[in-house]
Amino acid sequence: MNQNDIKINVVRSSMAPFDEYTAEIRELWDSHWLTNNGIKHRTLTENLKKYLSADNLTLFVNGHLALETLIAAFGLTGEVITTPFTFVSTTNAVTRNGLKPVFCDIREDNYTIDADKIEPLITEKTSAIIPVHVYGNICDTEKIDRIAKKYGLRVIYDAAHAFGVSVGGINAANLGDASMYSFHATKVFNTIEGGCATYRDPGLAPRLDCMKNFGVDSPENIVYAGGNAKMNEFAAAMGICNLRHVDGEIEKRRLVDERYRNNLSGKDGIKLNPVCADVKRNFAYFPVVFDGAYNRDDIADRLAANGIFARKYFYPLTNNNTCYGFEGDRTPVAESISEKVLCLPMYADLSADDVDRICKIILS
Ligand SMILES: *Cc1c(COP(=O)(O)O)cnc(C)c1O
Repeated sequence: MNQNDIKINVVRSSMAPFDEYTAEIRELWDSHWLTNNGIKHRTLTENLKKYLSADNLTLFVNGHLALETLIAAFGLTGEVITTPFTFVSTTNAVTRNGLKPVFCDIREDNYTIDADKIEPLITEKTSAIIPVHVYGNICDTEKIDRIAKKYGLRVIYDAAHAFGVSVGGINAANLGDASMYSFHATKVFNTIEGGCATYRDPGLAPRLDCMKNFGVDSPENIVYAGGNAKMNEFAAAMGICNLRHVDGEIEKRRLVDERYRNNLSGKDGIKLNPVCADVKRNFAYFPVVFDGAYNRDDIADRLAANGIFARKYFYPLTNNNTCYGFEGDRTPVAESISEKVLCLPMYADLSADDVDRICKIILS
């Protein structure tokens, strides 16, 4: 097969060796315990607490329901200040809890919520701030914390992109009141589908456990009209295996990132994701903002014509999605970035030759 016939997608899931996974799930055929806080669930919880340096961690069937359940567990009301430059999950988690998202614009330099623009959006109905560490870029947490403290607001981070990222030696799992991680197949660390909540208050643990299991407190006592958001044993086993390899996968991503930067940095009209000295990165995505001589849509089309499928993350903005009927809080910076950004293929096994080929098509 000609190399040009091989499709390259924006991501490719990391998978531990097949034999390692089958060995991990073997005992499930002895126990017949397939879900509801089984041995794999408990083991993965402990392993992740260690990996993320998190004292309090609850697994979920996916990242979205971790966030939705966190919002409910904190009893948030009224309005939540958040970013439109994200995956729809963040916005949906707010609206599905009956709350109103109030959209704050983003920073031009790292695409996270612009903390200087939060205060004017606060009203007496505001109960929380839900920022996103977009592309693994850590938000201005100090400023956000200061505002939250001043107005008595909760801070819940969508950390779906930030697995393994730390800032000034502090793992992102320990920022704000709580954080949500996604372990979806496309993320740096995956359990096929999955996610977790990390949080400061240990008192939240029994509430989250109960809420993710129909609100069942004990077999004859239902304390909350909960849904079902439990992670099963096969997903947890996949997580146990993948976690053993995640550092190696992140190192391979680092080399891909480096190769892209060697090809693309210093070019007029091409802006790469910023690098912060005190941040340990996970190389989750390779977003490029195209400008000037480079047109994002043309580049995406040209790559697709060569079997390379980059993605317009995040376009459109969630506040421009017609399904919500928002009147549209104006977020001009987010709007401009979302028109120009393209996430290039990024995964551990992307070869240097493929990176070079992708860059050559972009620069031609
Ligand atoms: C992936 C993702 C989610 C949702 O996570 P799931 O595990 O797919 O439910 C939420 N927010 C962001 C920013 C994401 O990228």
